[in-house]
Amino acid sequence: ATDKIDLLIYGPSKPVINDGFPEQYGLHKCEQPGDLDRLTDDIRARIRGVAVTGLVPTNSSVLARYPKLEIVSSFGVGYDHIDSGWAAEHDVVVTNTPDVLTEEVADTALGLLIATLREFVRADKYVRSGSWLTQPYPLSVGSLRDRKVGLIGMGRIGQAIARRLDASRVPVVYHARNPAAGVSYQHYPDLIAMAKDVDTLIVIIPGGASTARLINAEVLQALGPRGVLINVARGSVVDEPALIAALKSGAILAAGLDVFADEPNVPDELRMMQNVILLPHIGSASVVTRNAMDQLVVDNIKAWFDGKPPLTPIPETPVRGR
Ligand code: NDP
Repeated sequence: ATDKIDLLIYGPSKPVINDGFPEQYGLHKCEQPGDLDRLTDDIRARIRGVAVTGLVPTNSSVLARYPKLEIVSSFGVGYDHIDSGWAAEHDVVVTNTPDVLTEEVADTALGLLIATLREFVRADKYVRSGSWLTQPYPLSVGSLRDRKVGLIGMGRIGQAIARRLDASRVPVVYHARNPAAGVSYQHYPDLIAMAKDVDTLIVIIPGGASTARLINAEVLQALGPRGVLINVARGSVVDEPALIAALKSGAILAAGLDVFADEPNVPDELRMMQNVILLPHIGSASVVTRNAMDQLVVDNIKAWFDGKPPLTPIPETPVRGR
């Protein structure tokens, strides 16, 4: 029926999103980029909203197919996979899902830091293999007790990580382009200067061109041989070959990585190393938090077509007239 509000649901299938829209919406689902070609011209011409349900690349060649497009409601707080520049030029609003995942991702970051320092994964294998029956597990070289953390990024999630480090009595400083409002931690405009002053880096900034390979060989060298790198941001932010080289040579001590340059492909060299913990991009990936994110994808679209302002638009696509 032509009186329906037609939506494209693009990316992995999610019950909260598939079942979240009332009768007046017409849903068209494409899980893979290749599925987009199956939509008829008639349907394409009617699509007014796109829900992007995972980190599927959504560039201008995807978005330009829908002449009536008004809103792109994207899953996740990071939106480096969405061409927000194209959207802004074409008066299309883009929304993301901030806040509802902040505490979960901060939990993941702190857990990954402690697991990396105290070798939880190796210690677990030690018990399972029966090695504990012959001798106690060796003392971990790493500890949170003698560390100073430099956060790269002091936004919503960075601040939630900093609060956890406060509670753990670990000193915190940070690098971002500008000082963050309302925090008293020392701000370093210069990343290299901060890396020299700390022994632990936690990366929690957006991906995309402006942050590509920000953590390079020079930063890792400055961090030094006690250095630990935790990346829960995007794989693109770290120069992965430089990180592998630094871990191999002992230029830094260890790394905990939730994200990689070419997911789900993780370089064999990293997979063979003992001094890294590798997670499959699970920063926000619990049932409770993913449901809240999926619901916010739905609620942004509903607010828009109810004639209200979207709940969480990204700054690049300001909303006019609502
Ligand atoms: P915010 O927008 O609240 O904070 C972003 C922070 O990054 C700000 O402190 C900002 O400060 C800083 N920043 C941005 N650009 C640069 C730059 N070029 N150099 C240095 N600092 C920069 O975002 P959130 O805290 O909500 O989320 C951060 C990112 O975490 C997301 O964009 C996403 O990519 C990632 N993430 C990963 C998850 C996972 O599953 N592993 C889950 C959730 C998020 P300033 O602008 O002053 O530079």
